[in-house]
Amino acid sequence: MKTNKTNLFIYLSISVIFVLLIFVFTKVSFLYEFSSAFEGKTFDLRQKITSKHKIPKDNPIKILALDTKSYEFINDTYGEWPVKREYWADLINEIEKYNPKLIVIDFMFPKKSNKGGSKSDIKFINAVNSNNNLITGMLFDFEKEENRTPKNLPLALQNNVKNGEIIQNNSQINFKNCQPILNEILEKSTNTGSVNFTRESDGIIRYMPVFVYYKGSFYKNMSTLSALKYLGKDTNSFEVKNNFINIDLKHKIPINDTARAIMNWYKEDAFQNISLSDIHKAISKNDKEFLEKNIKDKVIYIGATASLLNDIKSSPISSLIPGVEVHATYFANFINNDFIYHVPLFVDVLIAFILGFIAVIFVNKINNIVKSLLYTLGIFGIYCITAYALMSIFDIWVGIILPFTGVTIFFITSYILKYILKEKDYEQTYYLAVTDVMTQLYNHRYFQEQMTLNTQNYNRYQTEFSLIMTDIDFFKKFNDTYGHQSGDAVLKQVAHVMKSCVRSTDIPCRYGGEEMAVILTNTNKKDAISTANKICETVRNTKVTLATGDIVNVTISVGVATMPEDGLTPKDLIQACDKRLYVAKENGRNQVVSE
Ligand code: GH3
Ligand code: MG
Ligand code: MG
Repeated sequence: MKTNKTNLFIYLSISVIFVLLIFVFTKVSFLYEFSSAFEGKTFDLRQKITSKHKIPKDNPIKILALDTKSYEFINDTYGEWPVKREYWADLINEIEKYNPKLIVIDFMFPKKSNKGGSKSDIKFINAVNSNNNLITGMLFDFEKEENRTPKNLPLALQNNVKNGEIIQNNSQINFKNCQPILNEILEKSTNTGSVNFTRESDGIIRYMPVFVYYKGSFYKNMSTLSALKYLGKDTNSFEVKNNFINIDLKHKIPINDTARAIMNWYKEDAFQNISLSDIHKAISKNDKEFLEKNIKDKVIYIGATASLLNDIKSSPISSLIPGVEVHATYFANFINNDFIYHVPLFVDVLIAFILGFIAVIFVNKINNIVKSLLYTLGIFGIYCITAYALMSIFDIWVGIILPFTGVTIFFITSYILKYILKEKDYEQTYYLAVTDVMTQLYNHRYFQEQMTLNTQNYNRYQTEFSLIMTDIDFFKKFNDTYGHQSGDAVLKQVAHVMKSCVRSTDIPCRYGGEEMAVILTNTNKKDAISTANKICETVRNTKVTLATGDIVNVTISVGVATMPEDGLTPKDLIQACDKRLYVAKENGRNQVVSE
């Protein structure tokens, strides 16, 4: 019975279950989040391994680190933190002397007094506004309007993003309020972008918004702006198409269903940090060689790496990563086209199906459960390695959790189905082994078995039982006159009548040819005779339809015998019964003989 049809049945039923489950999974938000969280962890693991030997091909970045050493240096030298803004003006002017490609400043210039217009602030504003290669940030947030009036940002900062609805509708990057940079910079310079990160529910930064949405307009991320400037690209209009933001033929940013780019992490020291205090030392010693080596044509990111400055994040590869390194990673991903492409849901579903089908084949072909489980795990292991290689080599993220769920469901369900079907198989085989297919009565072998069993019962418990044997009268006549098919029809209908006349505990059998027998368990002679008469009478009164359509009457001759009085072995009892059947024939047929 292990036919292709049964396998097909298994495949189809599991597939339906699986598709329904995926539907439920994606519609019930907490289940979806639950599985996404696990998927995120598999992503982190892959990133952790790949990042160990991954460095950006083109890496112009130098991070000027506001580390603990520099923080202390500034505090000692200037006597305050946050330091006056003219400090940053001086630093910018010094660095600019050595021709950096870009300077990106990844903090918000906090100061003690919020009164603008001081000499120090003016110096800073001039430094920023006079250097077109200098990029600064602003921070968007969800602060309520009662607490801070949302600022209208200048038109020059806004971007035209075609098909940007996907970004616009994503609640995580659709902001309500903004902490912009000093007004004088904001109004003059177009080199300001968002410094916002977005964290996942487990606190880890995996994605970076390429744009944010605020008060009906799009604004570039600070590092989007930096990368575009570095590549010499148009920084104003964009188009989202098929989940990609196309920059040029070589640079396409895949964005996920939350409209963010998925970052691909490099080895931990991929970006060399130079302590700001070392820069200061070089400046005071006039160490031109050092400064030129570290600044000329570089993209200088200035940001805090000291944990006491509270800009430490969790990334897939490290739980302690300065925000500026997240920006550097994004920038390097951008210019090297290294972002991760997350395949659409249907690809993961397809993979789950393929792996699931393989699991079903193993369950079907291998009888040892442990072996089939090991084979399935082996295939899944190979898949995991493939998934790792895809991310490592091609920057492609294929799912692990959904395929794993698929394989598990397919394996367990097919295993259960296999055993249900096996049980059915067994029942079917047993049925065929004991049944006469034409009459649906028990067959001769079963008859013999039951005769033996009932005799053994009698020997042990003295439970008497009876045997009825019947033979259709002038049966040949039906065959000869109406054909064999009509003979068969008579047999079937007589068998049916016989079955209907006996109890469920009785055993009606086809003895052979047109002879039938009923073993009446726990039945004495008297009761057996009355059953025999009932059968004889009912057959006589039944209108039998032939294959030709003719309707005829059929009669039978019946012999009855009972253990123990008519015999003590199956053979003796059958002989006695047969003899009486012969007597019934002799006496004119259509009657019961029991003596
Ligand atoms: P009697 O009243 O003496 O029993 O006469 P009868 O014609 O019934 O004689 P007998 O019992 O000897 O005939 C048995 C015949 O039944 C012989 C055989 O051709 C026919 N027969 C046996 N099995 C089948 C069957 O499965 N289908 C059909 N159509 N005929 C069968
Ligand atoms: Mg016969
Ligand atoms: Mg006969």
